[in-house]
Amino acid sequence: MSYQRYQGSCHCQGVRYEAAFDLAAGSNRCNCSLCSKARAWFLFVRGDKFTLLAGHELLSTYEWVPPGRSGHGLTYRFCSRCGVRLYATGDHEQLGGRFYAIHVPTLDDVDREELVRAPLNFVDNAHDRPDRAPADTRLM
Ligand SMILES: [Zn+2]
Repeated sequence: MSYQRYQGSCHCQGVRYEAAFDLAAGSNRCNCSLCSKARAWFLFVRGDKFTLLAGHELLSTYEWVPPGRSGHGLTYRFCSRCGVRLYATGDHEQLGGRFYAIHVPTLDDVDREELVRAPLNFVDNAHDRPDRAPADTRLM
């Protein structure tokens, strides 16, 4: 694991954050109903590796309960001024408790070529199978 610090922001620059993660661990595309609408592309960051630098007062929240579940999964945070989704938060034992799912396009200083080389994982959450890629990933 080679952690590096990165800066991120929304479009209007009202919300800014810093996060440390290993880009070689890869990023993810998901086909659930929400990710499909939002064209989500995210990578996981441990809770203690994320710092909100500015814009807490601008952040709005969205939560939804997937079919067949009793409660909401992640809490999605987006800028109420420019509408850009920055990250989602949740808790998961395998990810060390509290985690952030950062929306990759909001990263400002990640090296483009390094990002191209990093693994891109497809997850089939539309069929409750986060352990595998869907049969068709062409439009994800
Ligand atoms: Zn904004």
